[in-house]
Amino acid sequence: MTEETNPFKNAQRQLDIAADILKLEPGIHIALREPMRIFEVHPPIKMDDGEVKVFRGFRVQYNDARGPCKGGIRFHPDETVDTVKALAAWMTWKCACVNIPLGGGKGGIICNPKLMSLRELERLSRAYIDQCARVIGPTRDIPAPDVYTTPQIMAWMMDEYEKIRMEHQPGVITGKPIPVGGSEGRGDATAMGAVYTIREAAKVLNIKLKDAKVAVQGFGNAGSFIASILHDKMGCRIVALSDSKGAIYKAEGLDPKKVLNYKETSNTVTTMEDVRTISNEELLELDVDVLCPSALENQITGRNAGRIKAKLVAEVANGPTTPDADPILYKNGIYLIPDFLCNAGGVTVSYFEQVQNAYNYYWEESEIYEKLDKIMTKAFGDVHTTARKHDVDNRVGAYLIAVSRVAEAMKLRGWV
Ligand code: NAD
Repeated sequence: MTEETNPFKNAQRQLDIAADILKLEPGIHIALREPMRIFEVHPPIKMDDGEVKVFRGFRVQYNDARGPCKGGIRFHPDETVDTVKALAAWMTWKCACVNIPLGGGKGGIICNPKLMSLRELERLSRAYIDQCARVIGPTRDIPAPDVYTTPQIMAWMMDEYEKIRMEHQPGVITGKPIPVGGSEGRGDATAMGAVYTIREAAKVLNIKLKDAKVAVQGFGNAGSFIASILHDKMGCRIVALSDSKGAIYKAEGLDPKKVLNYKETSNTVTTMEDVRTISNEELLELDVDVLCPSALENQITGRNAGRIKAKLVAEVANGPTTPDADPILYKNGIYLIPDFLCNAGGVTVSYFEQVQNAYNYYWEESEIYEKLDKIMTKAFGDVHTTARKHDVDNRVGAYLIAVSRVAEAMKLRGWV
């Protein structure tokens, strides 16, 4: 990992820019550059062949001045503590940016779920919770799904926690399946929230979303929903989609539902017929109206930022653009919806899920979307206005809002 691609170094650099503009007191700035707590676990798991493997996992509690820590758990072979620290920092800014009463946290286990059986995954999920039960809980730290973790994994994790506590505690984890306390609308919440911000940005930029050309990098949970919603509800033309093996392009437009059906049986989009196969790098540089990086970090860097042609970049993924790339995009007039604003729909509906769990009373889907739209539209407007007021890019604008809210809570608590 280089200096430019270390996500935590990038998260710190982004914070430093905002701290400078805000003239943040040095004590608060230093405190916000590091997580409050890091918990490391090494659960041993009996694999299906009888061999015992010891995994390495983390739970980072970045800041809980505004409420309990909140953030997903990733299962990924390339997971590092620095990635988890960065994601936990971004969760802190995300919850503050959309103004929900939660702090930021994140978890991860270094593993390759694609090479594990369902039983092995269940044992690993339960073992992670056995180790982390002492630091999580509905009023302490609430995990959720992220890359390569699913609602089923959340159900196993909640079940393990409830067994340890010997009582129902569905609010310990969000992104659960609906029959065990999940919320309507959680599955596509990240994408739905992103679409609300894209709709608002399109108004600002005078882009007509009907027939607008869209490229989506990453066709997982977030990416497949964003492609489907933009196609089905906004009438966009999805010209390119991709997964970890490569990308596909079709000028007349792809039908995301057909691509999803195909991917379910063939495991990749790249072998589809009647499309042109391109690389993930080429997808990023296509001449489109909207580009949605929806995979992993460090996709738009100082090296390729100058070749990005999209009018609007909606960061559905966390950390897809490095700090070296930001000024290049801004100078080239590319309007960017920063990650912790763009993808905040997931945590917002997770927050709704927790509220419903606490009341043991559940809302209808239409109510969820209505409340989500209100929060995302307000947050978008706040970021757009703040960025224009300070003559900075939208990421800096989002940081100015989020950091000042977290700093205010820390001061009110008398921490600094
Ligand atoms: P996922 O595991 O469902 O999907 C990830 C997708 O990215 C897969 O299709 C995978 O093939 C693809 N991919 C992996 N490496 C790639 C590469 N190098 N190039 C192109 N594609 C690649 O994960 P997800 O939940 O959709 O999360 C994707 C991003 O969105 C992450 O940054 C995550 O943190 C962020 N996010 C997700 C949620 C959520 O609710 N799912 C919420 C907020 C943010």
